Amino acid sequence: MSCPRIEVDLGKIRRNTQTIVGRLGPRGIGVTGVTKAVCGHPAIAQAMLDGGAVGLADARISNVQRLRAAGMTDPITLIRTPMLSQADHIVRSCETSYNTEMLVISALAAAAIRKGTVHGIVLMVEMGDLRDGILPENMEGIAQQVMQMPGVSLKGIGANFACLNGRAPTASQMSALCDLANEIEGVCGPFLNVVSGGNSANLPWALGRQSTGRINELRLGEAILLGVEPVTGDQIDGMHTDAFTLVAEVIETGEKPAPFPIALFDPTLAKLRIVPISGVCTRLILAIGHQDTDISGLSMPVRSTLIGATSDHLVIGTPRPLPMVGSEVRFQMNYNALMHAMAAPDIEVKLLGDPPTRPSRQTQGKVEHLALV
Ligand SMILES: *Cc1c(COP(=O)(O)O)cnc(C)c1O
Repeated sequence: MSCPRIEVDLGKIRRNTQTIVGRLGPRGIGVTGVTKAVCGHPAIAQAMLDGGAVGLADARISNVQRLRAAGMTDPITLIRTPMLSQADHIVRSCETSYNTEMLVISALAAAAIRKGTVHGIVLMVEMGDLRDGILPENMEGIAQQVMQMPGVSLKGIGANFACLNGRAPTASQMSALCDLANEIEGVCGPFLNVVSGGNSANLPWALGRQSTGRINELRLGEAILLGVEPVTGDQIDGMHTDAFTLVAEVIETGEKPAPFPIALFDPTLAKLRIVPISGVCTRLILAIGHQDTDISGLSMPVRSTLIGATSDHLVIGTPRPLPMVGSEVRFQMNYNALMHAMAAPDIEVKLLGDPPTRPSRQTQGKVEHLALV
């Protein structure tokens, strides 16, 4: 099997989606599956839908186009404010987009009219993350303009938290978002279909004691894919954190002087003969590097430590017995590592079957697991 590769357990992604959909459903919140970290991989998106996600969302039109090319007909929302230059592509591939700029909304409207369709607009409100978003005091005015514009229809409002500033939303921010939805309806009349509360960082709030008010959607990527809550990094109860595994191949093993032979170059040090406690260090070199993933986002195998990485090599310290050249080492990834690895051209994405329906898991049987004990 080719290396490096990412093994994806679709069953775990489906079950993670089911778990979170099951918890949010009774609170009146539907789940939109966010596919940007997996570059719009169609089978992974399908696992989210199979698990009960009501729709999909991505930040990049190229990922949406990949989903459409695979035959995906479910609604897809573009959750990054569209590039003005891409208005036609967006109207062609997405039912709805998140917006913050009237100039862009006008371009989308014109593109929709050219295509004979109506494009949905969700207005993003700035609620403290200080990334993309319309200031709350400007929302009513912009909502009114969108209402009156042919070619687009106002679908709802949404907010985003914790992306730029890393802070989870508070209950009072969430109730301010609900109040804003009511105010906009007071001015514009029609019912806002979508009041989108945010991303995986909203889960502690959404599953907490207080009422979730008018929030009826969360856009979830990390929680579904990695089973963790992004602000704390903690596992979400009952969710799989190992749906993705990065597998890399050993290309050199052995001992090297540890950690750096500085003494050879520095006469004072040479005289002092400072020798690290371990003296030598048993190491593995793997054929994967900074070009493939965010190395600092990999969790090292048990009893192994990260020594360093270059663009194409990963060096880890590991106790004896050393595995052979050609064996494989398996890593779990955090969100950053996953995002980069999924986009890396040299990494194969290997889909594993769903254990309950295909218990043989033939694809995994052939993998030579490396036991680092
Ligand atoms: C990336 C993103 C999400 C999903 O975030 P996760 O932390 O992966 O759940 C939701 N909304 C917007 C606007 C995003 O950019």
